[in-house]
Amino acid sequence: MKRAVFLDRDGVINPEVLNPSTGQWESPHKAEGFTLFPWTASALRLISKHGYLLFLASNQPDFAKGKTPLEDLIAIHEKFASAIQDEGICFSDFFYCFHHPSGNVPGYSRTCACRKPNPYFLLTAKKKWGLEMNLSWMVGDRHTDILCGKAAGTKTILIHNEYAKEETGGCPPDFTAVNLKDAARIITGFF
Ligand SMILES: [Mg+2]
Ligand SMILES: [Zn+2]
Repeated sequence: MKRAVFLDRDGVINPEVLNPSTGQWESPHKAEGFTLFPWTASALRLISKHGYLLFLASNQPDFAKGKTPLEDLIAIHEKFASAIQDEGICFSDFFYCFHHPSGNVPGYSRTCACRKPNPYFLLTAKKKWGLEMNLSWMVGDRHTDILCGKAAGTKTILIHNEYAKEETGGCPPDFTAVNLKDAARIITGFF
């Protein structure tokens, strides 16, 4: 019986970055701006050790919005992938949505199937890996992550993000956590 933990990236695995021109905390735009939280590696290692496959499910709309070149988003992914590899952590797959419904880059500016809260990536992984979704988890810092997990049939953990805009209309998560370390404690202590 295979089970998985699906992870949002920005605000969960790595800190968001302050954009001085807008005063907003955003996804990193450059590889230099990407760094793991100090607890990320040990938290992921703990989750893996308890028999969960790891998957990333991340919306990265800044290319579609004309804010970040695709090469920079790929460079950020490569820095992330090599940082966790150096820590001996293995993800079964990385899923990124580079679309946005109201972007300005042709081909990427459209309604797509894969943008969270759509559960497309989670259901793709379920099918490919034969996952038991009711034994699996979605961990994110936005209500769209929670909606995505619920739609895919996983349990959900909302990580507190003090910079996330107040969002309403979401459904409540099964658990809340202060960070990924706390989420790992909840997941591994659950059964
Ligand atoms: Mg996030
Ligand atoms: Zn998409």
